[in-house]
Amino acid sequence: MFRIGIGHDTHRLAQGRPLILGGVVVESERGAEGHSDADALAHAITDAILGALCEGDIGAHFPDRDPRWKDADSLQLLARVVWLAGQSGYKVVNVDANISLECPRLRPYIQEMREKLAHVLSVDEACVSVKAKTGEGLDAVGEGRAVVAQAIVLLERI
Ligand SMILES: [Zn+2]
Repeated sequence: MFRIGIGHDTHRLAQGRPLILGGVVVESERGAEGHSDADALAHAITDAILGALCEGDIGAHFPDRDPRWKDADSLQLLARVVWLAGQSGYKVVNVDANISLECPRLRPYIQEMREKLAHVLSVDEACVSVKAKTGEGLDAVGEGRAVVAQAIVLLERI
């Protein structure tokens, strides 16, 4: 039996913050604002898994008022949700994700993101797709004010 889930996340970009995507530090003038490490890609995948499980959303599991999650490593949050999926009798089959960011170009970082995510998701990296898009100069992404990630995940009963 299979279940499918979708996730979406947006973070505002600001100077003086690191930009972390899929657990990888991206060299950038501007980083993502947020209570945790503001890893939009990890958050979108986390939400997609929770969605597939019908277990609410990332905000319910890791409230941003909770000091435990201040500057949290979002891969650890993702790992907890993978564990939760396992407790519910499911494992990840594959993930497909988009990151929308105007600059810098993410191509040099994609492989490392896939490796890190695959490790946390307990799948082969051939089962983790990360695609990079820009905002074509339009909207908040295009104006360099935001980073957006989308993810879709398939779970299978263990
Ligand atoms: Zn987020």
